[in-house]
Amino acid sequence: MSSVLPGSPGATRDCPHCRETILDSAAVCPACGHYLRYGARVDVSQEPVVTPLRIEGRIRHPADGEPGEYTVVVSIWNDRGEEIARKLIGVGAMNPDEQRTFTLSVEAMTAKAKGPGKVGTRH
Ligand SMILES: [Zn+2]
Repeated sequence: MSSVLPGSPGATRDCPHCRETILDSAAVCPACGHYLRYGARVDVSQEPVVTPLRIEGRIRHPADGEPGEYTVVVSIWNDRGEEIARKLIGVGAMNPDEQRTFTLSVEAMTAKAKGPGKVGTRH
């Protein structure tokens, strides 16, 4: 799925607990919250993680009517307008007058490759 070289910023691996694709530098799986035993190959700075984007919204299904269904899809686009990731997060149903809250957050940190290579380049 990822073409980033191991040890470079953006390198990924599979969480051994939940099998989600996560950053190689992650010390804690952002999906399942488990601590990851083996060491990262990317140095993440000691600066705190910042959240440059966080969106929260809620929808309430109309009280008068039939139950409804929803689908949550998140996609990531690059500078050139190309969709580089697309994921179905979840589906579900809501009864009349039920509410769901959805939160999207992007966490960012600086990362320095231990080996040669820069983000988005091959060598
Ligand atoms: Zn996990």
